[in-house]
Amino acid sequence: MLELNNNNYFSLEADQEFMSNSQYKDFRDCEERAMAKVRGLWKEPPNEALLLGSYVHAWAEGNLEEFKASNSDLFTNKGELYAKYKTADLMIETLANDPFIMFLLQGEKETIITAEFAGAVWKAKLDVRNEESERIVDLKTVRDIRGKHWDKNLGCYVSFVEAFGYLRQMALYAELERIYYGHSHFYETYIVAVSKEDPPDKEVIGMDQHRMDEELAEIERNMPRILAVKSGFEEPKRCGTCRYCRETKQLNKVVHYMDLLV
Ligand SMILES: [Zn+2]
Repeated sequence: MLELNNNNYFSLEADQEFMSNSQYKDFRDCEERAMAKVRGLWKEPPNEALLLGSYVHAWAEGNLEEFKASNSDLFTNKGELYAKYKTADLMIETLANDPFIMFLLQGEKETIITAEFAGAVWKAKLDVRNEESERIVDLKTVRDIRGKHWDKNLGCYVSFVEAFGYLRQMALYAELERIYYGHSHFYETYIVAVSKEDPPDKEVIGMDQHRMDEELAEIERNMPRILAVKSGFEEPKRCGTCRYCRETKQLNKVVHYMDLLV
């Protein structure tokens, strides 16, 4: 199997060989888009929110200067951050000024692990892992921490951690970490969240074991289908609404107006 490192972690080859949290999410959202990505036929366009997140992560990792040097398009000719990215510096300041958060961010940074779970070999990058305190921490940059997100399957509002699948990610990372290092129990898992508001909001978010077990059971239920599609045994289904589906859409029928919100 491919030996993962910082240069090939996000490569096509790595995505073809390994499952990851983001690939799982891709398959759950739109199988055809996920397959187009795995086959190297389609890529998500560059995304400002992602770049902002990478900037804050680079700081947490202690690599902000290198990140700045390799992302010169973030800066004006005068070497100042473009206004739209200045929020990132505010977010870093907010984190840096909080002793509790700085305490939780101590540990190994960006540790790459691989582990077999639910019939597949997964890769994950742990933002912070602290062996002494038996803790893993994931840093999230979000629009607002207390925002309400409509979940059409549940028919209610949920927080960003549920809406973006972050509880699943934390449960998965805790399980992969447990398997990779061979301990019998989960490390404590936390999300350190910082918002893009001015001034930014911040929170340390925990989750309970019961929800973690539920999240892992759901992944195990969904993996046989995902593996069948990824290995070419089953035809991928289109979600019909994502960017990829809109770009490749061909109409062959009329839709009833009552179906537009389904
Ligand atoms: Zn789609």
